Amino acid sequence: MTDTQPLSNEDFYEIFKAAHALLEGHFLLASGLHSPTYLEKFQVLQYPRSVEALCADMARRFADQNIEVVLGPTTGGVLLAYEVAKNLGTRGIFAERGENDKGRVLRRGFSISPGERVLLVDDILTTGGSVRETMEVVTEFGGNLVGIAVLADRTNGKIDFGVPLEALLKLDVVQYKPDDCPLCAAGVPLTKRGSTPKPQENLK
Ligand SMILES: [Zn+2]
Repeated sequence: MTDTQPLSNEDFYEIFKAAHALLEGHFLLASGLHSPTYLEKFQVLQYPRSVEALCADMARRFADQNIEVVLGPTTGGVLLAYEVAKNLGTRGIFAERGENDKGRVLRRGFSISPGERVLLVDDILTTGGSVRETMEVVTEFGGNLVGIAVLADRTNGKIDFGVPLEALLKLDVVQYKPDDCPLCAAGVPLTKRGSTPKPQENLK
């Protein structure tokens, strides 16, 4: 496999599976929904070689778009923005949670110039909440959002952001509102994974 050879959905599935990032059980997602499957993205992101391969592919999909800055939401987006930007030869910046956990903001002197061509990157697309919040940051600064690249789309393309969306791994994952969850009804213990949105756990 060379750097220039595009990977397929199956290739990406194997990368996630080999890293034990695809879990089965009864999970509480950050969105508040319940699901019998969970993608523990940091099982993959702990391997720099995997991050390199994944981000090279994200960058390849926007290589001819004259991207000027790559922006991702914390936490996974920090790594992804850095590595995709490295591939595109641009800046990579990240958007953190705003005051009282509301929305996303740029800190640390980061900014986007009006008209600057922005590629938004994120890890797992579930409800689109963090992507939409990060899109608002681009709008606030007057940036030109060219597209969105995510590691995995759990909605299998069901969300339309109004700009091109590229997902390395496309999954059609079952998820339930807590009231409608058959796993809850069956008394299966609920597991909470990932980061909890508490201020003290944010990046300092
Ligand atoms: Zn449940």
